[in-house]
Amino acid sequence: MSLSFKNRIAFHYMTATALVIALVFATVFCIVYSTVMHNVDGDLSYEANKHITEVRIVNGEIGFEDSEEWEEREHHEIEVNPVFVQLTDEEGKVIDRSPNLKKEQLNFHPEKENDRHFSSHLMGRHVRQLQLPVKDDGQIKGYVIAAMSLEPSLMVIEKLMNVLLISYPIILFGLFFISRYLAGRSIIPVKLMRDTTDRITRHNLNERVLIPANRDELYGLSTSINELLQRIEDAMERERQFTSDASHELRTPLSVLRGTLEVLIRKPRTQQEYEQKVKESLAEIDRLAEIMEQLLVLARVDAGLTISTDQQAPLNSIVEGIVELKTREAKALGVDIILLDRLPKLMLVPKYATELILSNLISNAIKYGAAGKQVIIDLSMVDQRALCSVKDHGVGIKSEDIPLIFNPFFRSDALNHRSIKGIGLGLAIAQKTALSIGAVIEVKSEHNKGSVFTVRF
Ligand code: ADP
Repeated sequence: MSLSFKNRIAFHYMTATALVIALVFATVFCIVYSTVMHNVDGDLSYEANKHITEVRIVNGEIGFEDSEEWEEREHHEIEVNPVFVQLTDEEGKVIDRSPNLKKEQLNFHPEKENDRHFSSHLMGRHVRQLQLPVKDDGQIKGYVIAAMSLEPSLMVIEKLMNVLLISYPIILFGLFFISRYLAGRSIIPVKLMRDTTDRITRHNLNERVLIPANRDELYGLSTSINELLQRIEDAMERERQFTSDASHELRTPLSVLRGTLEVLIRKPRTQQEYEQKVKESLAEIDRLAEIMEQLLVLARVDAGLTISTDQQAPLNSIVEGIVELKTREAKALGVDIILLDRLPKLMLVPKYATELILSNLISNAIKYGAAGKQVIIDLSMVDQRALCSVKDHGVGIKSEDIPLIFNPFFRSDALNHRSIKGIGLGLAIAQKTALSIGAVIEVKSEHNKGSVFTVRF
């Protein structure tokens, strides 16, 4: 059975309250019952003790001092809370009894402890009874038996019992509906939240759920939902920006290619002109292929496909491999690569991811480094973490552009260094890869002085 949230709260509340009320009712009942019985027992003790003083033993014979007067005086009435008194010998044979007993007699219970009250029956009615022994020289000579009707007391107890039993389900029923109503009211903000989130689609992601005035659990939930919506909105915005940038980057070389070919077929050209235009077209095709290649790498890193199959390898040998591959490119630009290996021990890192990060950083340092200057790669260990910093003395980055350089397709000050080729995806790939292996990339750069990119593994 699946209960609604408010019914579930009401049901749990009712179950807990039912147990508490049952406990309270049982306690009230026990207290009333024992008080009533205590009063009856007190009256009974008083009567029995009063009559025992009137008992005399003469020549071993037991009897009331003045039997006739006693009978005259005592206990005629049966209806109004009557007390029945009976005198027996030590074996329980009746010697005398109060007139209200008529022909009946109180049952003697030799097994019952003397001086203890107990419940019994007389003429089909419930009575409370007490047997007091009459002693002579420490020897029991007989008993004064007193009994008192329990009917009025039992009537009170029965009434109380009926009131408790009838009111119990009524109280629980009422409680269920009251707590159901209150639970319904307290989940109104949740319903409002659901209505808002149901309304939100990719077209109105800027809507937010209402924040309750009280700083309670619902306040926390609404804030979390709004933060989640903000993150989704940011991600969608980044995706939209990326798609528009990517299509722009892909369209540019295609437009150049189309323009070049259109100009070429307008009129006959010399062999030299044809060669020149074909070379330009091939360069655009290479650029297109590179963009596609980089986008593919970015998509693979984004999907985490590269990380799961990555092997561990020593950091210094990975860097040595990259330096070897890049040396010719660096030499062509007049840049010297210096590798400082200050690692105290062998540090294992994910091979493919590290290659992806460091080859992008080292390529950039060579591209944006100044000719005739050095690129210094420094491997060290700080706070149990391996560090690889790549330092150049080149164009540097304007301080306002530093937070943007990891965005896909962002190129800082591209117009001022047109000769440096790039598409703006290298750092985005490096950043995403670093995130996926728990590494951090830090940048320090001064415009026209140089940059230091540090990877903390
Ligand atoms: P690109 O293909 O343009 O090099 P990246 O993503 O690798 O793309 O870098 C993004 C931008 O960050 C570059 O266009 C450049 O402006 C800046 N940048 C990156 N590395 C350096 C560096 N070592 N020195 C100066 N600028 C850099």
